[in-house]
Amino acid sequence: MLSLLFRDIPGLESLKHTLCQSVSDHHVAHAQLFHGGPGSGALALALAFATYLNCENQQLHDACGTCASCAKMRKLAHPDVHYIFPVAATKAIKETQSDAFLPLWRTFVAQQLYGGVPDWLEHIGAENKQGNISAEEARNVLRKLSLKAYEGEYKIMVLWQPEWLNVYSANALLKILEEPPERTIFLLVCTQIDKILPTILSRTQRVAVPAFGAEEMIGFLTEKKGVDPTRARQLAYLADGDLSYALTLAEGGESDRHSWFANWMRLCYRTDLTQLVPLADKFDALAKEDQKGTLDYGLSLFRDLFLWQNGGEALVRLEGQELTFVQNFAKAIPPERVERIVQEFNVAYYHLERNVRAKMICLDLSLTLAKLFKK
Ligand SMILES: [Zn+2]
Repeated sequence: MLSLLFRDIPGLESLKHTLCQSVSDHHVAHAQLFHGGPGSGALALALAFATYLNCENQQLHDACGTCASCAKMRKLAHPDVHYIFPVAATKAIKETQSDAFLPLWRTFVAQQLYGGVPDWLEHIGAENKQGNISAEEARNVLRKLSLKAYEGEYKIMVLWQPEWLNVYSANALLKILEEPPERTIFLLVCTQIDKILPTILSRTQRVAVPAFGAEEMIGFLTEKKGVDPTRARQLAYLADGDLSYALTLAEGGESDRHSWFANWMRLCYRTDLTQLVPLADKFDALAKEDQKGTLDYGLSLFRDLFLWQNGGEALVRLEGQELTFVQNFAKAIPPERVERIVQEFNVAYYHLERNVRAKMICLDLSLTLAKLFKK
């Protein structure tokens, strides 16, 4: 069941503390911008803060989780908390107002609290469309905030991804952001702060949400998702702070990614064409996400190899098979070639994104690597 409390979010302790403190100090800024990179806890934190603000039985460091207000927040059905997010008309929903998408928003938050706009658009069945926050939607904000009766302490407007406001919709919001009605709080949540219009930026207090650390992710994956510790470590390493990606990998069952990849690299090392051709066919048959994931994995492994060769052993966060792989290849491949190899993985990834046939990409990369691996 969905739970939107601070204690459900891994780490970020000092931020949680600062937010709670602002409430006990009666110093809650009326417009706050939570910003963090892909897969950060920015949305989770904003929603936990909204829960805290209206909790009827606030504890020192978290909402109670059981009062009537917390129960409504958990269902994202609190009458004083409103949501705006980018939407696009779909076959099922012709409207372009957030409220029409609320049922889908609830399931999205329940399933992909750390997801991004592409995940969201896929969730609503608009994966090939541009999301948008319309000016009409922005103009409705004031009406929404003044119509509903108070139930909680605060009226809250959660605006997810203000990057998607255009100049018109942003203008419609400016006045209310500057002079909000009494006891009204705006919680904006963004991924790319450099895409926020300066007029919006200057009216908000920023809450910088750092990427999750490896230990935080490992703790979350093992305790909340039942992933075994070795695998959790590997996923945390691959996802590099992006919890959404780590969760996708966890669900994708990629436990043998390393053995698949290591086998591929060994065949390249031996320039074993009789096996590299069928391997390219297997690569071709993988889902696009798995193909990307494999190249991504190669990239991070060779980046670590580069570090390893250049005296950065301490920065290499590997153990077990992966560590052995890096140590062995570090001895076998001349250092000046590793940089080229990383480049070749990048090129392959680029081609894959542009829909070049995966089999050709894999074969091409195999032959290039075979040459680069030679002394
Ligand atoms: Zn409560």
